[in-house]
Amino acid sequence: MAKLYFKYGVMGSSKSAQALITKFNYEERGMSVWLIKPSVDTRDGAEIIRSRIGLEHRAEVITAETSVIDAYHSHGKRDVIIADEAQFFTPAQIDELRWLVDEEDLPVLCFGLRTDFLTHFFPGSMRLMELADSITEIKTICECGRKATVNARIDAAGRIVTTGGQVLLGGNDSYLAMCHQCWKRKIREQQTERKSAFT
Ligand SMILES: [Zn+2]
Repeated sequence: MAKLYFKYGVMGSSKSAQALITKFNYEERGMSVWLIKPSVDTRDGAEIIRSRIGLEHRAEVITAETSVIDAYHSHGKRDVIIADEAQFFTPAQIDELRWLVDEEDLPVLCFGLRTDFLTHFFPGSMRLMELADSITEIKTICECGRKATVNARIDAAGRIVTTGGQVLLGGNDSYLAMCHQCWKRKIREQQTERKSAFT
């Protein structure tokens, strides 16, 4: 039976590279892959899935208004769906991916973030946690050596940002993965610095 997979990790944990390697592995076995990603902005090259180690491939961009089921059927049958940045799908689109697993016996592999820069679920990730048959963590480490779990948002001066919208358009360079302890400690240090600057 096909399954819905959620493979989550923090920024920089090689999710995109693993999505592209998985695509390669399926194709090497003669299977056809529908590679997709949800749209969050319309930057040039937004349809390219890029990994930091140099792998990249064009993906079909799915807007929030698009029915994933309709888009899939407009292409004809594939053997597997691989999605990157899956946290940006709407919950309804995750339900549609679940439908494709159940009704079309189609494996769906979703790669994405679990939580935002304030440690809260993205709506798409929450739905994936609820619906996935298989949930695995792609791990990477904080600079202190502990496992990184927080996608800290960083400003131009390297300070941790704790206000703002859940999605920062074009802001992929503005994040740093760290452990929860380091994240809290750095926020505390920033607050202490700020207080001492005014006294
Ligand atoms: Zn740490």
